[in-house]
Amino acid sequence: MTYQRNLVSLNTLNEDRSWELATYERCGGYTVWRQVIAGEISPKEIVDAIKDSGLRGRGGAGFPTGLKWSFMPRSAAGQKYIICNSDESEPGTCHDRDILRYNPHALIEGMAIAGYATGADVGYNYIRGEFMDEPVPRFEAAVKEAYDAGLLGKRILGSGVDFDLHTFVGAGAYICGEETALLESLEGKPGKPRFKPPFPASYGLYGRPTTINNTQTLASVPMILRKGAKWYAGLGPEGSGGTALFSVSGHIEKPGNYELPMGIPFKDLLEICGGILGGRQLKAVIPGGSSVPVLPGELIMSCTMDYASLQQAGSSFGTGAVIVMADTTCMVRVLQRISRFYMSESCGQCTPCREGTGWLYRMLTRIVDGKGREEDLELLLEVANRIEGRTICALGDAAAWPVQSFLKHFYQEFEYMVRNEGRSMVIETG
Ligand code: SF4
Repeated sequence: MTYQRNLVSLNTLNEDRSWELATYERCGGYTVWRQVIAGEISPKEIVDAIKDSGLRGRGGAGFPTGLKWSFMPRSAAGQKYIICNSDESEPGTCHDRDILRYNPHALIEGMAIAGYATGADVGYNYIRGEFMDEPVPRFEAAVKEAYDAGLLGKRILGSGVDFDLHTFVGAGAYICGEETALLESLEGKPGKPRFKPPFPASYGLYGRPTTINNTQTLASVPMILRKGAKWYAGLGPEGSGGTALFSVSGHIEKPGNYELPMGIPFKDLLEICGGILGGRQLKAVIPGGSSVPVLPGELIMSCTMDYASLQQAGSSFGTGAVIVMADTTCMVRVLQRISRFYMSESCGQCTPCREGTGWLYRMLTRIVDGKGREEDLELLLEVANRIEGRTICALGDAAAWPVQSFLKHFYQEFEYMVRNEGRSMVIETG
């Protein structure tokens, strides 16, 4: 089967200098924003269309975007904000930086439309600190182009519509991708997640109503409104409308970002990416960034890449970051590496996460160092279970789920290593 690629958030990708205003406009860009400015589309029509399109947050949680927008008290007096979360840090995920690099105007137009729909006339794009090489300058240059063309600012193109957009560059903490930690960071405080409720729609940036969406989510908005909610919804299966940017990495012949329809069978995605590196056998896949449960190869081969299918298989769509592992992968070492990441990135506010992530990493390191005990495997699971669901933010779950799923599907590898003084059951060849 053939699939059309780059239909939505990377729609300009095949053009020369795809990131420039002239290119974006040549591809139909800013037509919806101009209609909005001309008063041809109401905020309610926009929110309804986004609801009907089935667009869900691509930052990991998969929350319906139109519904999120409808929570904003649009007519309430005072300042309201729209924020883009470009703090892309989930291991394996590398697609938002490509939107900033190659199609920044889609994001700007998406943010402006989202601001209009939710009553926010100020937007911030919170960009990951490590993106200073290309994504940040490209985005900032695009914002300048949009201001120079009169598409942003006050009384845009002589209308009564205002929208100001600012870039904010983070300092490189994974936890700032959590929306309330991002708000704290944006306010100049340490990036520590807030208790919810209140949710940002009622108490967000500086205590004002705020909507926070992911980069890919917002960059999809202009095309959805241009081509219609029905068109977008029809690209994917029921409940998983549209396209997604799959970041495919690991033991794969052609790693990279692939914008493809939601619901594509995993085996087709694998084929598009050239198959397993060196023609090896598929062992396992983490389908949505390192925090979602791992799936054995034989299980994911019958899945389609959408919310329902992956959930039914015991995992999650997450960020659409597909980490492929061949049969030469030592699952104990992979889990040790993942656990180290979550230990390092815990903000330390809650005890189960702060202490538990360290316990997990130290136990796994003990096993890898050949000093593991049989009872460590039960203890690993017990610690993970005691973290899950008992923390302020989802980082606790993100640390627990890999442990639970790796032990569920690959228990014999952990057992083998414990019984053989740190020797791996597989011969790793990179
Ligand atoms: Fe911080 Fe971890 Fe608690 Fe999240 S779960 S607030 S990262 S300590």
